[in-house]
Amino acid sequence: MLKALSFAHGVHPPDSKDLSSGIPIRRMPFPEEVVLPLRQHAGKPAKLLVKVGDYVERGDMIAEADGYISVPIHASAAGEVVEIDWWPHPDGSQAEAVRIKVDPFSPQVPRPRIVPEWHGLNRDQVVEAVRHAGVVGLGGAAFPTHVKLLPPEGVDVRVLIINGAECEPYLTSDHRVMVEYPERVHFGIRIMMQTLGVSKAVIGVEKNKPDAIEALERALPEDLDVTIQPLRVKYPQGAEKMLIHSVMGREVPSGKLPAHVGVVVQNVGSIAAIAEIFETGYPLIERVVTVTGPGLNRPSNLIVPVGTKLRDVLEFCGGVKDNVTEIIFGGPMMGTAQPDMDAPLIKGTSGIVVLTEKESRPRQILPCIQCGHCLDACPVFLNPQALGQMARAARYDEMMELQLMDCMLCGSCSYVCPSNIPLSQMFGLSKAAVRKRQTQAA
Ligand code: SF4
Ligand code: SF4
Repeated sequence: MLKALSFAHGVHPPDSKDLSSGIPIRRMPFPEEVVLPLRQHAGKPAKLLVKVGDYVERGDMIAEADGYISVPIHASAAGEVVEIDWWPHPDGSQAEAVRIKVDPFSPQVPRPRIVPEWHGLNRDQVVEAVRHAGVVGLGGAAFPTHVKLLPPEGVDVRVLIINGAECEPYLTSDHRVMVEYPERVHFGIRIMMQTLGVSKAVIGVEKNKPDAIEALERALPEDLDVTIQPLRVKYPQGAEKMLIHSVMGREVPSGKLPAHVGVVVQNVGSIAAIAEIFETGYPLIERVVTVTGPGLNRPSNLIVPVGTKLRDVLEFCGGVKDNVTEIIFGGPMMGTAQPDMDAPLIKGTSGIVVLTEKESRPRQILPCIQCGHCLDACPVFLNPQALGQMARAARYDEMMELQLMDCMLCGSCSYVCPSNIPLSQMFGLSKAAVRKRQTQAA
């Protein structure tokens, strides 16, 4: 086996994956209703195509892409559109959403579709098929996948890196996909390599997933240059720039894209979603989600229709225990605490983590003691302590000089801070304020 590689700095939170890593993926039954926000991906929200009273089949497009960095949204269950209104969004805001009452008598089989024959398609046609299917990065950021298939003019992409690191504590959905569907992952890699015109692909997997590495190795294609690179277990190993450093030993300069160093990175779940388009013709209407945590009665890895409400998923997993303090979409490092049980799972929701008081962060914030732990933790070598002081005073210009926009909001600095200062959250708000200011000035 190859030597496990890594990057500088980072942190080592307990991975807590054993609650669900050995549990096979199973399908959750359809809930009574699904709620599909029009804003589910990076870029512009999709544009509505249906109205109240319409009957939709599973897989029908209910909202179309609005611009280049946008994707359509499809009905994840057959049923009647009963409401189009503002609804709690997993990011804590409200968003316009389509509520579909699921038809209990429908067999929930998507309409038969033409399965695109990928051999005969040129690059633009593959890109269009991926876009039409509404595929986005399933690792959390939900960036439209078709955009990554068309790197900027003038850059020479030579390597495809598949992100199977899954470094967030608790989450095991990518792990299970690699263990249970390795052929599908390799099929997706084949399509992506052809589309990008690259001859080399590397799958980066943290070495706490030996069964995933083994399954992928067993299914390796003989006619392609695909290797599996074990990675050290360290957070945030799965962040794009860290992964590129670990796998290729290359730095992506500040403000540049991975494509500028000849690389495209794609999450393993998105690769499997691309393969599914060319296996079944179905768009992205469901995803694998880890539902776990010490506060949950039955940790699981589930295939869940997009738009299923948090309360329905938790109920299917046996409900939560009495001592629950926090329910998070995503992992505990980068995820978002959910105040509303009606928030729906969206395309980018990789997991639901239910924590008790023992695992939740202490709420009392203390003054900075200048210990420097946050500087040692930051994987992009920022100065979180100084940035934190500036954030408190909304000194955004000075924060920009200290490369605020390079902050990945990975949460490593907050994790190590003995004073419980929510540095990462403060930087998220600061970045949003800077972007707003830039938009207003444009
Ligand atoms: S959240 Fe930002 S500042 Fe903090 S460790 Fe991560 S990248 Fe560095
Ligand atoms: S880790 Fe917290 S207490 Fe220590 S220097 Fe950074 S902000 Fe200050």
